Amino acid sequence: MIEFKNVSKTYSNGTHALQNVNLTVADGEFVFIVGSSGAGKSTFLKLIMCEETPNEGDIIVNGTHITSLKKREIPYLRRMMGIVFQDFRLIDNMTVYENVAFAMHVIGATQSEIKKRVPYILSLLNLQDKQKCRPNELSGGEQQRVGLARALVNNPKLIIADEPTGNIDPALSFEIVDLLSEINRRGTTILMVTHEHSLVKHFHKRVVEIHDGRIVADTASMEVEPDA
Ligand code: ADP
Ligand code: ADP
Repeated sequence: MIEFKNVSKTYSNGTHALQNVNLTVADGEFVFIVGSSGAGKSTFLKLIMCEETPNEGDIIVNGTHITSLKKREIPYLRRMMGIVFQDFRLIDNMTVYENVAFAMHVIGATQSEIKKRVPYILSLLNLQDKQKCRPNELSGGEQQRVGLARALVNNPKLIIADEPTGNIDPALSFEIVDLLSEINRRGTTILMVTHEHSLVKHFHKRVVEIHDGRIVADTASMEVEPDA
């Protein structure tokens, strides 16, 4: 799903944000990205989303060499990604239903597709009773479930979550990662940046640690495979 080959990123002010990064993430993996502030985690995600371009190296996402993408091709790449933000980024004057429907609308889905899909996704995330609420009527955990619904509604192959639990109660953080795990079991690849050691310890996923722009540890998932 994702391949970094000798990727380096230096910002115009001379900051070496990533240095010679090599990493492969297979289809269907769930990867926690950890590391202290300033380590390069956001830069790593921005390169995958084509928000930044590397100075050196090659990046392949879902079979496409994104380092040579033309600007007008970027929106097509982004369609296969769902993005979950730390600060939710919901539209305040839209209801829960409308927030999720809007994500389908912008990629050109028809009304009948929207009417079928949105209630299904909302019930998957246990938000069916909140459809008519506006974001400010929801708890932090509920707002992030709407963020997940919006990220999922267009059926992405990859979910990128940048500290999705950074603004919610620790107890509810586990619920969000449980939901991401369930989404992952259904086949979606997940990359999640987090600072929370308790989450990393509890969910036995692959953990990639970035320090000073380099990958310093890459620990395989310790999940027990279900019996065949
Ligand atoms: P993290 O997400 O792990 O906190 P970042 O990827 O945001 O790390 O930052 C890595 C390094 O690059 C830091 O030193 C940061 O200050 C620097 N940096 C990030 N974005 C920019 C930018 N747009 N311009 C210059 N330096 C940046
Ligand atoms: P949490 O303990 O998760 O932070 P809250 O105490 O914020 O949750 O909210 C508990 C419940 O009350 C939630 O179901 C939420 O939807 C509802 N709620 C919170 N604030 C409002 C509000 N301003 N208007 C309507 N319902 C609200």
